[in-house]
Amino acid sequence: MRATFLPFSLPSIGDEEIAEVAETLRSGWLTTGPRTKRLEEAFAAYVGARHAIATNSGTGAMHIALTALGIGAGDEVIVPTFTFCSTAHVVTQTGARPVLVDVGEDFAIDPGAVERAVTPRTKAIMPVHYGGQPCDLECLYETALRHGLAIIEDAAHSVAASYHGLRLGSDRLAPEGLQRVTAFSFYANKNMTTGEGGMVTTGDDELARRMRLLVLHGMSHDGWDRKEGRSAWYYEVLAAGFKYNMSDIQAAIGIHQLEKLEGFTAQRQRLAARYDDALRDLPAVVLPVRHPDRTHVYHLYVVRLDLERLSIDRGTFVEELRRRNIGSSVHFIPVHLHPYYREEFGYRPGDLPVAERIYRQVVSLPMFPRMSADDLHDVVSAIREVVESFRAGA
Ligand SMILES: *Cc1c(COP(=O)(O)O)cnc(C)c1O
Repeated sequence: MRATFLPFSLPSIGDEEIAEVAETLRSGWLTTGPRTKRLEEAFAAYVGARHAIATNSGTGAMHIALTALGIGAGDEVIVPTFTFCSTAHVVTQTGARPVLVDVGEDFAIDPGAVERAVTPRTKAIMPVHYGGQPCDLECLYETALRHGLAIIEDAAHSVAASYHGLRLGSDRLAPEGLQRVTAFSFYANKNMTTGEGGMVTTGDDELARRMRLLVLHGMSHDGWDRKEGRSAWYYEVLAAGFKYNMSDIQAAIGIHQLEKLEGFTAQRQRLAARYDDALRDLPAVVLPVRHPDRTHVYHLYVVRLDLERLSIDRGTFVEELRRRNIGSSVHFIPVHLHPYYREEFGYRPGDLPVAERIYRQVVSLPMFPRMSADDLHDVVSAIREVVESFRAGA
């Protein structure tokens, strides 16, 4: 057995990030400033977007997108239930109703379920690019255009992923006439991190202008512009904006994480290929579904347990791995099963059966760029041992 605990995820922070943070601290400019601007410009160029606005979280990124689109009380927004709670929370926080829908066997929002959920009150769809693989954007964009809906993509897991050869967030992905925003997260365990942080991208000038306003109190100039500008003290408040701006301390980390992102992604993809090879012959462990027209960046490597072949449930499986010093996790508890969403919006177990079934089966295995081949071997050995020890009927 492994001597030390292998966590499910660890960030990759190098000397470059540490030096840049130290330099930022010495520079005298800590909040949104030149480094945030540098990160925004580099990120916009990287994904191929006209506008990128840095935020202090992925959640904040989604919230300013919804608000900039004018979504609020009386509106409905379609959200997959198989996501982190914040995708639905931001809708709730605008006063709109999150309409939770089911997912497919690939864990992504089910385009058929989206179509069936559209009502005259629907204003937007929030697809989640779950685990690092883009969802069926062509189909979702077509639905959105046909019904006149906006799209806010939750790409928290999927920075650097591409769909039909274009990176998520690229302006060239969105068809003419579609209002579309892509939101990214730089939370500590995401594929690139700023500790806490996020980004929105869009090709829409007017949406970008409103989001830039909303990210910092609705003030017409941010702090850096005021420092540089002619009238250092003057600003105008044009909206009841939020306090979601990124600091230069965060951006200092992000600038170097973005430079390393291609390397991180390649390493995640190598690890995923190794997992595939090492687990393929185990009937109790079902490998993730991949779509050949998309690049998967493996924020998560999620297997499904064939519970018919095991005498234990998923919770015990996770516990047995932990007893063997292997960390793992579960993504996600369907949003509609949480007490708040049940009580507030009347959801019940059984409402979204695919997500509920998948939820009982999924385990996210350790996956992070500095994980070694030996680490991966330890994970696979532990899985084989658990599967062997808890065979159904044994
Ligand atoms: C991490 C995550 C978020 C939220 O990002 P924060 O930066 O933590 O606010 C949103 N959606 C999904 C699917 C996530 O995994």
